Amino acid sequence: MKIYEKAPAKINLMLDVLHKRPDGYHEVEMIMTMVDLADRLTITELSRDTIQISSQAGYIPLDEKNLAFQAAQKIKAKYNIKHGVHIHIDKQIPVAAGLAGGSSDAAAALRGLNRLWNLQIPHNDMMELGASIGSDVPFCITGGTALATGRGELLTPLTSPPDCWVVLAKPPINVSTADVYGRFRADKIAKHPSAIEMQKALEHKSFDEICHQLGNVLEDVTLTHYPQVQQLKQAMIQLGADGVLMSGSGPTVFGLISKESKVARVYNGLRGFCKEVYAVRILT
Ligand code: ATP
Repeated sequence: MKIYEKAPAKINLMLDVLHKRPDGYHEVEMIMTMVDLADRLTITELSRDTIQISSQAGYIPLDEKNLAFQAAQKIKAKYNIKHGVHIHIDKQIPVAAGLAGGSSDAAAALRGLNRLWNLQIPHNDMMELGASIGSDVPFCITGGTALATGRGELLTPLTSPPDCWVVLAKPPINVSTADVYGRFRADKIAKHPSAIEMQKALEHKSFDEICHQLGNVLEDVTLTHYPQVQQLKQAMIQLGADGVLMSGSGPTVFGLISKESKVARVYNGLRGFCKEVYAVRILT
């Protein structure tokens, strides 16, 4: 039996870091939504008790460092499953990009294995399993649009943005999330984005207000250390994107665009800056 699962990328419409907690995690406030740029997982049961990961992408780990591997390991241990599984990841989401590709693969693996083995895992248990793999995994399990608090694992569902285009561009640099959080200084932040104002904009389905409320405090760190990201933002604004922001810890920059007629200009203009450019839609 084969199970297919899509693992979409997320973008942050806002990201605020409140403080560092005694357990080492940062307390965050983020509003996230999914876009239709997705990895595709093919999950096949094996009679031998083993976990195998394969991918056409040569640059992701295929062992226990892969978050989909960890998802399989955790489900097998918790539900005492003696069968094995092969997970093929058709990688489409850029890696170490601020788009939660690994977390989304883990979430898709949890969903897929729940179906494969007919486990009927209660929602709360799925979320707990997800959180034990990574802070973004619970959101990737539920999808949609949500406010994430705590270290990112406490979710409140929100109204999705109105249908619009998203152009994503990843400069050819890899940014480590841990490194960006390590350099972040809360006392250096001049302006914090507002989760409340972004929620209102979403409730009103006001595209212009959503663009106005976009904000990410991690830009201060990443843009300072990687001027290419700042240049990319600037280029996207000049090419006419309606709202522009770095996603997560970067380096991917996204532009929200309401009119289809503008998308080609932004997309083609950015291809001069970097190879990895995508024009997709919000998953509403
Ligand atoms: P986030 O936005 O959650 O910080 P990200 O988009 O910045 O995530 P990922 O693409 O998830 O980053 O990859 C971060 C690291 O995780 C990579 O360097 C890679 O080695 C490792 N990794 C583990 N599993 C996967 C996977 N299934 N796909 C991609 N990377 C993975």
